[in-house]
Amino acid sequence: MILFKKGDELKKYLIKKAVEGISIGFVPTMGALHEGHLSLIRAAKEKNGLVVSSIFVNPTQFNDQQDYLHYPKTIDQDILLLEKSACDVLFLPDVQEIYPSGYLPDHYALGSLETVLEGKYRPGHFQGVCQVVDRLLAIVMPSTLFLGQKDYQQCMVIARLIHLKQYATDLHIVPTMRETSGLAMSSRNLRLNEQDRKKAAAIYAGLTHLKSRLKPGKIQSLCDDIANDLLRAGFEKVDYISIANAKTLDPVEEWDGETALVALAAVFLSGIRLIDNIPLT
Ligand code: AMP
Repeated sequence: MILFKKGDELKKYLIKKAVEGISIGFVPTMGALHEGHLSLIRAAKEKNGLVVSSIFVNPTQFNDQQDYLHYPKTIDQDILLLEKSACDVLFLPDVQEIYPSGYLPDHYALGSLETVLEGKYRPGHFQGVCQVVDRLLAIVMPSTLFLGQKDYQQCMVIARLIHLKQYATDLHIVPTMRETSGLAMSSRNLRLNEQDRKKAAAIYAGLTHLKSRLKPGKIQSLCDDIANDLLRAGFEKVDYISIANAKTLDPVEEWDGETALVALAAVFLSGIRLIDNIPLT
């Protein structure tokens, strides 16, 4: 695996590869890698001649400074895992490389994607996500970008970014990788103690239970029931348990039995904010 810290050097290297006709698959991450990230690397490897991954904890997407400061960092282990997964290139920029002095962020027209769910509870988060992904796509110019369904709304935001900026990049969304307990793998799980990790499995169990009870008609009470169950189980806060239109993320309170739906959750356990989702239809 070749490691680059400078965007212009990486860009030069990748342009040469593209001229040789090699397709580039790209997996951006914030590090503290786990099997979920590696499933993206494997998917990229299957479909591309060259796989580029990046590790960059992007300050502009954190609306909570404490969350940014405590974001787990396991860079030596990450490099070993990427090498084992046969990742070809790692881009490891510092903040100055991504946001050099004089950098002026665009404003990205994300519409209602920015005001619902994560957008509502993390103001500015998706503008920050677009800033970093825009910078990374301009450097890597991948044929295909690989993202995890774990961050459902983020996938939709980045699809919008690709469209807005007319990047010649396809989007490939990889299903969520889970622990055997059902807990969605996440770098933030590293901050949970063993007991909380067990407790956190209740999020997926709740979403699965909700799915099993879904039928046409009014559906809001399914979400309220799960939220109350989680609070009773010791989760200290529920930002949302929500059923939304799977294509627009608009909230759905009454289901016609046909519209494709997704259930999404954001909850706090011991101060750690955890998100998950499952397609319902
Ligand atoms: P992150 O490092 O959390 O920014 O995640 C980097 C990429 O990995 C994003 O596209 C995530 O959606 C994806 N990802 C994170 N967790 C999982 C998971 N459990 N299963 C599949 N993809 C994931």
